Amino acid sequence: MSEGAVKKEEKPRKFQAIRGTRDLLPPETALWNRVEQTAHKVFATFGFGEIRIPIFEQTELFARAVGGETDIVSKEMYSFEDHESDELAALRTLLIAKQPSVSDPNFFWSYEMKVTEFRERLGRAIEIGEVGRTPLNERVLADLGPLLDSLAFDRQEYEKTKDAAIFERFNLYVGTIRRHLLAVDLGDQVSLRPEATASVCRAYIEHNMNQLPQPVKLYYMGPMFRRERPQKGRYRQFYQIGAEVLGGSDAPAIDAEVIEMVMTFFDRLELEGVQLDLNSIGCRDCRPKYVELLRAELVKVKDKLGADSQRRIETNPLRVLDSKLEGEQGIIATLPHIADHLCDDCKTHYAPVKHQLEMRGVIYRENWRLVRGLDYYMRTTFEITAQGLGSQNAVCGGGRYDGLVELLGGPPTKGIGFAIGEDRLILSLQESGKAAAQQGRDVYIAWMGDRAHATAIRAAKGLRKAGFSVELPPVELKFGKALGQADKLGAKYALILGDNEVSEGLWTLKTLADGSQAKFTEPDLIEHLKKQL
Ligand code: AMP
Repeated sequence: MSEGAVKKEEKPRKFQAIRGTRDLLPPETALWNRVEQTAHKVFATFGFGEIRIPIFEQTELFARAVGGETDIVSKEMYSFEDHESDELAALRTLLIAKQPSVSDPNFFWSYEMKVTEFRERLGRAIEIGEVGRTPLNERVLADLGPLLDSLAFDRQEYEKTKDAAIFERFNLYVGTIRRHLLAVDLGDQVSLRPEATASVCRAYIEHNMNQLPQPVKLYYMGPMFRRERPQKGRYRQFYQIGAEVLGGSDAPAIDAEVIEMVMTFFDRLELEGVQLDLNSIGCRDCRPKYVELLRAELVKVKDKLGADSQRRIETNPLRVLDSKLEGEQGIIATLPHIADHLCDDCKTHYAPVKHQLEMRGVIYRENWRLVRGLDYYMRTTFEITAQGLGSQNAVCGGGRYDGLVELLGGPPTKGIGFAIGEDRLILSLQESGKAAAQQGRDVYIAWMGDRAHATAIRAAKGLRKAGFSVELPPVELKFGKALGQADKLGAKYALILGDNEVSEGLWTLKTLADGSQAKFTEPDLIEHLKKQL
């Protein structure tokens, strides 16, 4: 191999962000900060407090809350087994792989030793809390005792007699032991959170928040993870800003106020082309009846539907209403509307929600086809779209989810919330020209000479303390070069410090837009800039 080829091979690999994830860079991050600061401010004015929840939780939590049949849980979660006891896991893998063999005289003995070791380690791990003390784990621990006794007995018999029937029996024990080992729960099956409502409900239960004054109003912001097909406005790591109202009553004014809060937030950000769609999807009593009716109607027109919708007739007929397929729109328009099939309770909830929105001056459009993808929603559902986003134009989805807390093992609790897709919100703001400009500097300090450097450092300290953004070059530059840099960085002023300025105590300030110059003492300079900037 030539030397060149070796060099080529040694060149370190270049890494790239994983598909569906991305880096957010300045100046765009300034817009992200502005959006998040606005959320903090607006939500606080509605009496919401921030909750910060973990990025990963037990998979079971999401499966239970979001629904095992949903796309999110069935195929989009990033899941992994999280166990502290690696040695135990490795030993288990080894034991599960082992096959008894007549030709290996040591097999019986070594297998018995290894299972004994596993049992002892498991007992210890449970003792010190490394492995959960679950009923299943305790049973495995208890069962392994007698199984090991039988194993030892047969080993001794086999060593004496070499009887094939005993070998067969041994084989059966190995099978039973393997099943026991597989049943041991060495740790949690965990997932990166695909959404946050489940976690907020888990936290509400875990911290007995039902004992606080109700309802409890919480908001969150942060990354979520779904293994979706990436495209514009759809990522595998994306960011949500959301809020939940838990406990107390299900008064329609709560639904309306939550929606009013999102709309106020969007308004504050000057988001354009905002459209709020509203629907009621009924409750456990009336929705199943409507779904059956819908299914019956869909069966009649099955041949005219695409493959996805045909499948959904069986799995989830409501999702057919979501279809964007051109050819299906005519058929969908003829399907029964849920509004005509709500039970009395749902009707008497929905009408005042609309009235309450009107009282708050919130403009909405009723959309009977709005069903939302997550299992936990009931009654009020809503979705907000904005302009400039193409097909992924939903910036917020939300709804009522009474019963979710109970489903997760808590007390009966009312709940409603929403999640805003922050990536899309930002995209829409950028599309309508609300992007943050490149962050320039207020003052660039052009210094020359050691004495001037000391003065420049002091000047930078004073200007920064007064709140100005200051660029202080780390090495001496010729004035021409320094001014060129100041220009490139978009600085508004250059503070020129050379020998003259330092000895006179009068600093030269150059306004870069027009090239004009003036001299100031240090305190006068700060006063002058405060007036100008
Ligand atoms: P959901 O939690 O599915 O109700 O989604 C709420 C909002 O989050 C949506 O309206 C989107 O704005 C946003 N969202 C959901 N999934 C993604 C994704 N993969 N990438 C970017 N934004 C998303």
